Amino acid sequence: MTYRSFPATGRPAADVLADLVGKQARDARWAEGRTFGLVFDGGDEVRAVADEAASLYLHESALNTQAFPSLGAIQSELCGWVSGLFHGPEAAGFLTSGGTESILLAVKAARERALDERDVTRPEVVLAKSAHAAFHKGAHLFGLAVRSVPVTDDLTADVDAMAAEVGPNTALVVASAVDYPTGLVDPVPEIAALAASVGASCHVDACMGGFVLPFAEMEGRAAPAWDFRSEGVTTISADIHKLGYAPKGVSVLLHASRELRRHQTFVFDDWLGGLYATPNLQGTRAGLPMAAAWAVISHLGTDGYRRLVRATLDAADRIRDGVRAIDGLVLRGDPAHQVLAITSDEPGLDVFAVGDGLAARGWYIDRQYPPDSLHLTVSNGNLPVVDEFLGDLAASVLEARGAAPGGSGQYATID
Ligand SMILES: *Cc1c(COP(=O)(O)O)cnc(C)c1O
Repeated sequence: MTYRSFPATGRPAADVLADLVGKQARDARWAEGRTFGLVFDGGDEVRAVADEAASLYLHESALNTQAFPSLGAIQSELCGWVSGLFHGPEAAGFLTSGGTESILLAVKAARERALDERDVTRPEVVLAKSAHAAFHKGAHLFGLAVRSVPVTDDLTADVDAMAAEVGPNTALVVASAVDYPTGLVDPVPEIAALAASVGASCHVDACMGGFVLPFAEMEGRAAPAWDFRSEGVTTISADIHKLGYAPKGVSVLLHASRELRRHQTFVFDDWLGGLYATPNLQGTRAGLPMAAAWAVISHLGTDGYRRLVRATLDAADRIRDGVRAIDGLVLRGDPAHQVLAITSDEPGLDVFAVGDGLAARGWYIDRQYPPDSLHLTVSNGNLPVVDEFLGDLAASVLEARGAAPGGSGQYATID
């Protein structure tokens, strides 16, 4: 049912809820492992714990942690746990609504710090083409100029090109671990040292990798340096609502010290409403995602995350091997973790047409460019369906071979 005007009369709850379930009919089938990204399924028990915690905190407000001290405690415990995980003994931070908000606040904090410590009035951000679009959004919103550099042949940030762009106006230098488009870890120690050489901030975007890399290291997997152990890293973002397996609406932004963290907060009292202080972009904010994240992390613990990371990397490795075995398809770069991008090296084979074939078979996969590629974020919920996916991928390639290019590379539509 589509409303063209505000509902004139209320309807019974059962009707309303049945309508909602009906609306979901065409949504991506994440619970069957058929999305690669968007929803991250830690399994029945993890979902159950999140559901219960969410219902306990559905109505609470995190705007005022004096009224809800439990939410203040949840936030500081979570930030403390993640600081330890990222080897930042002095680190301090806040929870945010997601990766974008964490990144926006990191950009804002870097700008404030550059003004405060170095009188930078025309601040700049130096980043690679593989850095997330949210940094451009932040630069746009907060008035910083972007100096963007290419990636090298291995598709990680080109540090020499970054060095040529860094100077007295640099407020922030960005590294990704792992980057969204290709799933690679940038040379964080070099990028952080470069930022430090001019007194600028260095943000490591671990929105995607933050809950994978530490556990992968414990599992003895590839462990490039990416966290606070690298000198010069000033902020790190990590999304608990991605591979942290919490429901949507929660990320963490950590600063290397409490002293640096003060550049994030906004404090104001020149209005009729008295002292107003927020660490976030939001005013009123939900307690639900914070409590659910606290419950999921407490429930899983290190051993639980190691188990989920083993399942994730096992699935991702098998998909990579499967892709390499299909003529006409190649991986972008050499990613070792959960993100991978598939492109084509066969003239006339349109990888978006392959994506159309997968969509027709009930798989939801993001598309990106340049170059045209299919983007997969693999997680625990995909492990049971890896063989089925690879079979459908091979079938979709056969179908697409010679098909007229017609796929669309649109990431998202706004309607
Ligand atoms: C997802 C992601 C973001 C943005 O996070 P949202 O939660 O979608 O706002 C930023 N950086 C990376 C590397 C990401 O994977």
